[in-house]
Amino acid sequence: MIDFAVIGSGISGATISNKLNKKYSVRVFEKAKGVGGRSSFKRFKGKIGFDHGLQYLSPRSREFKSFANKLIKKRVLKHWKGNHQFLNEKVKRDKKHVKLIGTRGNNDICKHLLKSVNCKFQSELFEIQRQKNCWFLRFKDNTDIYTKNLIITAPFPQVKKLVSKFVKTKLFKNKVNMNSSLTVLMMTNKTGSNVSSFFTNDNILGWVSNENSKKRFKCDKDLWVLQSTYEYGKKHTDNYKNKKKFYTNVLINKFKKLTKVKIKKIYFTHIHGWKYSSNSNPLKINSYWDKKLKLGICADWFGGPRLENGWLSAEDLFNKISSS
Ligand SMILES: Cc1cc2nc3c(=O)[nH]c(=O)nc-3n(C[C@H](O)[C@H](O)[C@H](O)COP(=O)(O)OP(=O)(O)OC[C@H]3O[C@@H](n4cnc5c(N)ncnc54)[C@H](O)[C@@H]3O)c2cc1C
Repeated sequence: MIDFAVIGSGISGATISNKLNKKYSVRVFEKAKGVGGRSSFKRFKGKIGFDHGLQYLSPRSREFKSFANKLIKKRVLKHWKGNHQFLNEKVKRDKKHVKLIGTRGNNDICKHLLKSVNCKFQSELFEIQRQKNCWFLRFKDNTDIYTKNLIITAPFPQVKKLVSKFVKTKLFKNKVNMNSSLTVLMMTNKTGSNVSSFFTNDNILGWVSNENSKKRFKCDKDLWVLQSTYEYGKKHTDNYKNKKKFYTNVLINKFKKLTKVKIKKIYFTHIHGWKYSSNSNPLKINSYWDKKLKLGICADWFGGPRLENGWLSAEDLFNKISSS
């Protein structure tokens, strides 16, 4: 029997696993094909790819700044300077924050943290039973496992579905609103644009990133990531799969109109709906630990909508486990 089963390989799962793995036997179970969760990198060909979810980090807390600086020294992270344009005066708030990105892709932090951890992919947990002194977990691929401790790191609604019957506190009485959004990945002709990102003030298209400006690879085409606003995502994320072409075109047309970037040819597009893109209404606690049941929960939604909140939550849970 393993000491810890950790569900999820995003920043929260990667951070807590990395710390626990120094002392205990740990296994990470991830339903996707690779690491990173909402900070995943969609590889297109060789090194060429797109940051699919998270676009950049802008560390705020002293602890996370120090962690990020160590990763810059190790060349896991780097600065993304370039020309970040604000198409409306009102959205200049991000200008003062540094922008850090993964050296090869934004899942580099999770990859780095998990490099010595035993991970199993395409392994979706769907049933949990409490047995005498341990947890019994069953996965959708028909495998099961016994573990002494269970840590869950998924978005709020998914954690609630999995473990609410074992949580005796009011944790799941909290209202954590999860925002949805649509993302279009697009490869076009070389447009000659020297802009790294566009912040818009539109009600449909929220933000655009020029992946080539991240200087991770050389490509004779331009790669763009178009992200919808939460307002648009809320209305359309549940039904975009039936009309993928339509929603892709809505975002592309907005992009052309608002930025005036000259697109002559589109070689490739891909659309994805993030049902649980980010959260609002942070809680008053940073993580959950039941030392009797040996059940832990850490995730970004305890503290806010950014990757840093997931990292802080995992650090907090590790401290609780260590002192219990
Ligand atoms: C489009 C988008 C843009 C963003 N932009 C930014 C940004 O610019 N800056 C920023 O700081 N943050 C940004 N974020 C938010 C940031 O990505 C998240 O805060 C962070 O990645 C959350 O990490 P996490 O580990 O808490 O959760 P997740 O990354 O969601 O990890 C949870 C993992 O659990 C897995 N999982 C869930 N259920 C199961 C199950 N039953 N069995 C097995 N595995 C399971 C999931 O597949 C996932 O990999 C963005 C997010 C999105 C979607």
